[in-house]
Amino acid sequence: MKNSTILVIEDEQDIRDLISFQLKTEGHEVITAESVDKAITIVERTERIDLFIIDWMLPGIMSGLEFTKKLRSQKKYTETPVIMITALTQPDNIVAALDAGADDYITKPFDLNVLQARVRVQLRNLDHSASKTNDMLDFGLMKIEVNKCKVTVKKEEVQLTSTEFKILSMLALKPGHVFTREQFINNIQGENIFVTGRTIDTHIAGLRKKIGEASEMIETIRGIGYRFKDVL
Ligand code: CA
Repeated sequence: MKNSTILVIEDEQDIRDLISFQLKTEGHEVITAESVDKAITIVERTERIDLFIIDWMLPGIMSGLEFTKKLRSQKKYTETPVIMITALTQPDNIVAALDAGADDYITKPFDLNVLQARVRVQLRNLDHSASKTNDMLDFGLMKIEVNKCKVTVKKEEVQLTSTEFKILSMLALKPGHVFTREQFINNIQGENIFVTGRTIDTHIAGLRKKIGEASEMIETIRGIGYRFKDVL
């Protein structure tokens, strides 16, 4: 994996220093900011940032959550991975962070090794995004041909409904990204069907049944949503 530039926005110096130290040992270039004010200046001056680690609760002009929304509205950073750090651990809070545009979240207090693993998953997705355009997602046990809407598990083709396929490809195109039910609903609507969070759960249950052993790749995050496990 190539070395990446990571911006860490965290107002607690101890945590900021620990994260920075840990990621530097992995060979990344780490830039830190204690507030959004400072982060905005850094973003403007830095040519490229590969990943953001953003604390939700920050002093100053805006919170980490608001900053994430702002980032997503900029063309340059709509797809850049964001991991949100939060002391707010209720499912509603987590869902708000994800709906604001975070790819993943980690709750305080956290283990630095866990953070490092999450960072690795997000950066690996970036490395792979180029090869995804050739539309074959190969997870060993399961292979997905996105353009052909074709899924095979252990070389056997699996017949999915179009909604099941949409859900599976959303998940599989971004391993490690936590999707909320709302995000699935937004993606599925337009097919003239009435979709609720419960409908999503039902589709996922059907999907899991059809893909058998490969269903382990779809992880349920209780009260929050679903994530495709990074299995590589
Ligand atoms: Ca804070």
